[in-house]
Amino acid sequence: METLALPAASESALVDRIDALLPQTQCTRCGYSGCRPYAQAIARGEAAINRCPPGGRAGIEALASLLALEPLPLDPKCGPEGDTGVAWIDPQICTGCARCLPVCPVDAIIGAQRLLHTVYAADCTGCELCIASCPVDCIVMRPRSSDARAPHAGTNRERYLNHQARIERRAAEQAELLAAKKRAARDP
Ligand code: SF4
Ligand code: SF4
Ligand code: SF4
Repeated sequence: METLALPAASESALVDRIDALLPQTQCTRCGYSGCRPYAQAIARGEAAINRCPPGGRAGIEALASLLALEPLPLDPKCGPEGDTGVAWIDPQICTGCARCLPVCPVDAIIGAQRLLHTVYAADCTGCELCIASCPVDCIVMRPRSSDARAPHAGTNRERYLNHQARIERRAAEQAELLAAKKRAARDP
């Protein structure tokens, strides 16, 4: 693997440019926890440019061009190139446990506790992260309908950032609630 020796000041800007070329599904197939961590690893020279199956050949070539590196074939250990389709929830089996909701990086799953959940196919990136979260194995991948395309990276990024912001907001609210309960218990 070719390494990039970059001054720290330019690394952040480079991460932005690399991240801009990634599909933003956050699928983790590259072996990193999301697109930006993979971009950071590439910028540090710690990861090869051929680890993103959703980006595929075109993505590798774009990264190679940006970084003045030779394009490489997609690393087969990361999975095959191509659209994995969209998630589908079997309504006969779904128990409404809601465990799949926080897992979806782009909030493509619609539902609430004890209610049937469903996937809004237009927003589903095909990341497959929801499958393992389901305790009754009622989520499967199905081909995208022939007139539909996987959502654009820009849309995925926006939805992911909103998802992250909501999770952080809820965590802060819960922490504040807990702190208030502790204060009330100390000083009733
Ligand atoms: S879309 Fe590509 S870069 Fe982003 S998490 Fe998936 S494999 Fe990694
Ligand atoms: S519904 Fe499942 S496969 Fe689709 S984007 Fe969400 S987590 Fe990924
Ligand atoms: S995790 Fe499975 S059973 Fe639970 S709400 Fe999601 S699809 Fe339904």
